[in-house]
Amino acid sequence: MTNRVYNFCAGPCTLPLEVLEEAQQEFVDYHGTGMSLIEMTHRGPEYEAVHNEAVELAREIYGAPDDFDVLFLQGGATLQFAMIPMNILKPGEKGAYIGSGAWASGAFKDAQKYGDVYFAWDGKAEGYTRMPASNEIELQPGTRYLHITSNETIGGIRMTEWPEVDVPMIADMSSDYMSRPIPWEKFDLVYGGAQKNLGPAGAALVFVRKSVLADCNTDIGEYLRYSVHAEKNSLFNTPPVFTIYMIGKVLKWMKAKGGLSVIEQEAAQKAGRLYDVIDNSGGWYSCPVATENRSHMNVVFRLPSEDLEKKFIKEADAAGMKNLKGHRSVGGCRASIYNAMPYEGVEALAQFMEQFRKDNG
Ligand SMILES: *Cc1c(COP(=O)(O)O)cnc(C)c1O
Repeated sequence: MTNRVYNFCAGPCTLPLEVLEEAQQEFVDYHGTGMSLIEMTHRGPEYEAVHNEAVELAREIYGAPDDFDVLFLQGGATLQFAMIPMNILKPGEKGAYIGSGAWASGAFKDAQKYGDVYFAWDGKAEGYTRMPASNEIELQPGTRYLHITSNETIGGIRMTEWPEVDVPMIADMSSDYMSRPIPWEKFDLVYGGAQKNLGPAGAALVFVRKSVLADCNTDIGEYLRYSVHAEKNSLFNTPPVFTIYMIGKVLKWMKAKGGLSVIEQEAAQKAGRLYDVIDNSGGWYSCPVATENRSHMNVVFRLPSEDLEKKFIKEADAAGMKNLKGHRSVGGCRASIYNAMPYEGVEALAQFMEQFRKDNG
């Protein structure tokens, strides 16, 4: 057996070992065909089965109703920042955005190029340390959608309560995708890059309401049109076959675990273990995030000094706990504990944190 470390990277990130090993076994000779899946046509029966299974499992595990289409697209979550307004915003309509952090800002910036958009709430002045309450969200007349980021990966904040608003929502769920059930009736479109909770990089998974598809702008490049991909079941052009194959395996792993309710519970438990260490440290470790919006996926924390943070990251690394450095834009430490991070990894980190404080406090 190879030496597996605990990898707390924010993305791409740790994946279930079972999934990696299964893929390894199948890699050179896929199901006795004498070739790898990634050497095959995407129009053949082998890939078709892989593709359709991934689509169906995504729908099943997330509980997406029949009036949503499931799409695998390239360009990651980032391309969705532009595709959403390009497809959906019409002249005279406005797109509202919740300014919750770095990723929401990215979505907003791209949308500005294609339509009339505004911040219905902006957390910038507060350093992006919380999400808004529904009564703080100010929607203007003519608003077509409210764009939210359910979990801000860099700031470590999550939307604990879904906004109560009277326009459809569009959500970037990249960093807490399929980690809890969602109220589908509130959404027109849900999207995320694959490389956090779902698999390797190379695809965005998009759920889009069918009635929205019927009413999208058509004067844009073919690849950029949701309805083109929906009509072709995400086989309009060559899809990222390896990524989708791996996502299918991760989804099967999620289903075998017991699905979203089990995953949601585990996430709360894992995050809770780390926040307890922080809260019980007498302020030695600190978390800048409002308690009610603490992320279950990206736990951000600070130590008393930057020197101690450097030492912490270095010693943790040497002890097999990798990638605990916070995002370069905010500094500090960040433990990304996505669905595939086992509880043992979190427990090892929690104990390391407690010992490090004793040794250096
Ligand atoms: C990682 C991330 C993105 C960017 O994803 P790409 O697939 O690299 O484009 C966007 N939004 C959020 C919330 C993310 O965590």
